[in-house]
Order: sequence, then structure tokens, then C-alpha cells
Amino acid sequence: MTAQLIDGLALSKATRAEVAQRAAALTAQGRQPGLAVVLVGDNPASQVYVRNKVKACEEAGIRSVLEKYDASMTEAELLARVDALNNDPSIHGILVQLPLPKHIDDHKVIEAIAPAKDVDGFHVASAGALMVGEPGFKACTPYGCMKMLESIGMADLKGKHAVVIGRSNIVGKPMAMMLLAANATVTVCHSGTADLGAMTRQADVIVAAVGKRNVLTADMVKPGAVVIDVGMNRNDEGKLCGDVDFDGVKQVAGWITPVPGGVGPMTIAMLLVNTLESAERAHPVPASPAPSRGR
Ligand code: NAP
Repeated sequence: MTAQLIDGLALSKATRAEVAQRAAALTAQGRQPGLAVVLVGDNPASQVYVRNKVKACEEAGIRSVLEKYDASMTEAELLARVDALNNDPSIHGILVQLPLPKHIDDHKVIEAIAPAKDVDGFHVASAGALMVGEPGFKACTPYGCMKMLESIGMADLKGKHAVVIGRSNIVGKPMAMMLLAANATVTVCHSGTADLGAMTRQADVIVAAVGKRNVLTADMVKPGAVVIDVGMNRNDEGKLCGDVDFDGVKQVAGWITPVPGGVGPMTIAMLLVNTLESAERAHPVPASPAPSRGR
């Protein structure tokens, strides 16, 4: 069997086009959605991510405000900036690019973002909302993975076993919650899992979010399973690759996401979706006036 590809680039393009349409409607009413992206320090990878996010905003008609600060910025100064953005009505989403310099407490900064503007979905209030099934912003990467499943007719996972490899707060745990909300039976694996292959071989859906090459190989996959690769690593030639041994696993899986061109573009698309929805919530479209009664 050769797996079919879940094309994250094409899906993200379609998602972004829809965002652009809805953003244009808000802008026409003088309510352009706005995202503030805050970058502290000069981490080269963060600079690339931030640039891509700003570019994606521009293309979708979302106003982006990039605030770049020197690595010497203090925690108090950053918290003051977050507070100012919380109170700026033209800003609907606030993204503080992680990692922050060591002297700044990531958690404290994320918790300072107003949950109504937490478009990354990292705030404890957003995680809690996901846990209890209340409305809130969903973390963009697992949200993008769910959209990929939806795109292949797997929005409802009733009767399916999903195995998530990784339990980080930004990918693995919210991923497990979203799969559970879609009615999957979910197993979460991590570095303490005794026999990873024994778990993944039972899975109809596997999400690999580890950050290590070849964590998932063909012998660990049930024929026909859906494999979603969140990992971002470099191979020996320095090229971007995922956690999955793509060439081997594609011989066994039913569906597979590539790296690059899979989950990465969807993560950015879902950031735009969250920002747009934040703007729509902040400025609900006025109800059309009731038709006047003729006399
Ligand atoms: P993380 O915080 O480092 O978490 C990695 C997880 O993998 C941990 O839960 C860890 O277990 C588990 N793990 C490590 N070795 C393992 C093993 N041999 N077997 C099973 N589990 C193992 O990483 P993250 O932030 O979740 O990111 C994961 C990967 O996704 C990274 O490559 C990252 O770059 C990528 N990523 C991509 C996107 C995107 O848009 N494409 C977005 C976010 C992240 P313990 O908890 O026991 O340590």
C-alpha cells in the first residue's frame, strides 16, 4: 500500500483564503482584525517563525504589529507591553514568540495575556476550556491536525483508536483532548512509555509530536492507519524532516502528512483563524434591523 498524502499546504491555502474573505468583510466595516506578535531576543528560528506569521497575516488582510525587543528586555517591561496590548481595542490576538530569554518566565508572560486575545491557545484558561469543552482558543498545531483529519472525512473518530506520541502542553496534551472531543479512544505516549510500537500498532490514527527523527517506523504502523507528523527536525543533509520515517511508513499507512508541507502550514493557518474569530467576537456583526411595519 502507498499512503495518500494529506496536503497541508493546499489545505492551509484554502483556509487562509476563507480567512481573507471574512477579514475583508470586517475591514469593510472599519474593524480590521489585528494580531500583535512580540519577539524578544534574536533566536534565529524564532525570527523565521515570526516573519512567516507576519507575512501570512498580511496576505489574509489581518493587520499585524510586530514588536521586536532586545534580549535584555526585563520581565516587568514585557509584562507591561502585554498589558498595553490587552487594553488596545485594535489588537484581537497577542502572540509572544517562545522561547523567551532565560531571565523571563514564559509561563508568567503567557498567563498575563487576556484569554480573549490568547490566539496561540497556551493560556491556562484556554487549556481548561478545551478540557471541559467550553469555547476558547484552541492551540494552533493540534487544531490544524484536527482540520487535516476533517479534510479526509475523519471529523468524527468514534470507534477509532488514536495514539499521540508526546505530551507537551502546546502539542501532545491539547492534541489528546481534541481527539477525545472527536470521540476517539486516546492513548498518550511519552519518553516513559515502555513499548511504543506495541501502542502505535493498535492505532487507527497516530500523531507524532516528539522532536526526534525516525521515532515512528513502518514496523510500528498498522496497515491503513492515518499518520500525522508534527515533528520538525533536520536530517543529515540539514533538510527539514519530521519524526516519522516517511519513506518507510508511507508504504504501510493509509494517509500521511509530509514534512515540510504538512502540519507546519496548518499551524499558521489556524493562528489566522483564531485571530479572525477573536475579532469577530469583539465586533459581532450587527443584527439586521427588523423590517419596519407598514402603517
Ligand atoms: P517537547 O515539549 O520537547 O515534547 C516532546 C515530547 O516527546 C515529550 O512529551 C517527550 O516525553 C516525548 N518524547 C521524547 N522522546 C520520546 C520517545 N523516544 N518516545 C516517546 N515519546 C518521547 O516538544 P513539542 O513542543 O511538543 O514539539 C514536538 C515536535 O513538534 C518538535 O519537533 C517541534 O519542533 C514540533 N512542532 C512543530 C510545530 C509545527 O507547526 N509543525 C509546532 C509545534 C511543535 P516526556 O514528556 O516524557 O519528556
